[in-house]
Amino acid sequence: RQENLQKIINVPAITLDGKEVHLAVNINSQNEVDYALTYDASGVGLFRSEYLYMDRDHFPTEEEQFIAYKEVAQKLGNKPIIIRTLDIGGDKQLDYLTFPEEDNPFLGYRAIRFLLDQKEIFKTQLKAILRASANRNIKIMYPMISSVEEIRKANQILEQAKDELLQKGFEFNQNLEVGIMIEVPAAVAIADVLAQEVDFFSIGTNDLIQYVLAVDRMNEHIADFYEPFHPAVIRMLKQTVDAAKAKHIDISVCGEMAGDANATPIFIGLGVHKLSMSSQSMLQVKERILSINEADCKQLIDHILKCKTSSEVIALVEKMNHHIN
Ligand code: PEP
Ligand code: MG
Repeated sequence: RQENLQKIINVPAITLDGKEVHLAVNINSQNEVDYALTYDASGVGLFRSEYLYMDRDHFPTEEEQFIAYKEVAQKLGNKPIIIRTLDIGGDKQLDYLTFPEEDNPFLGYRAIRFLLDQKEIFKTQLKAILRASANRNIKIMYPMISSVEEIRKANQILEQAKDELLQKGFEFNQNLEVGIMIEVPAAVAIADVLAQEVDFFSIGTNDLIQYVLAVDRMNEHIADFYEPFHPAVIRMLKQTVDAAKAKHIDISVCGEMAGDANATPIFIGLGVHKLSMSSQSMLQVKERILSINEADCKQLIDHILKCKTSSEVIALVEKMNHHIN
């Protein structure tokens, strides 16, 4: 099985009826890039920058970050890399920073909320990313966005960062694309308005499932309630994709669900042609893409959208797999 998968490493991910799907990788550190590239990834769909801030005793400086971002982007050549700004809080803490004691850290001082409160830390990171973007294919993504105001405030800080770099004579990509994670149900509900503010959406199913089903993603006792194929999740995916398409902005998925081959026909059926996942999932997802028709996926999604339960959705997905195998 594994040998067969190895054979498709350099085969483009195209459905039987000719639809190409871009398979990018999620990376947690710059050290993972080389390995990811051996899988012929189309780019880095999610660079979780927080790991650059962890396992050390002080905030990384602008220069340290610039070097790290530049190194990763350089290795990718023309392929795009989406750097997500610091997503700290929730389950991720920093040794050198005291966080407030919180009863519900996942609903608390986290990600964009932290960044907009700690503007200097945010601006330092934005400057490092901007500098690395000169002649490189880098995009910025804000985590855990739940309102238009957050995007506008973040963009204001981005503009300040640009002004300061210009004054110092630094080069950067003036048209650097800015996108957001769609991982809070509120963002799905207003996806049509958010789509007017940004260049792209990337759906973070890990948090989206946690928040929409009110199931702590870290809590083993309720793991059974964490259902990626819950009809509520499927509807949220559809609403987000439709909003992105209506406004002609890029749409991708970067949560774990993107790396689940059973979910692949769902994404293709919804019209998602960019998936970002851990390297380990890449070949299994590609194998699935090579064995299905986009037309069948579209039919499948029509049926799935009428399902009343997770089990019904899973049954339809399994029936389709059965067909293939
Ligand atoms: C997600 O929430 O789906 C995601 C990709 O981000 P993280 O897992 O880092 O929260
Ligand atoms: Mg997340």
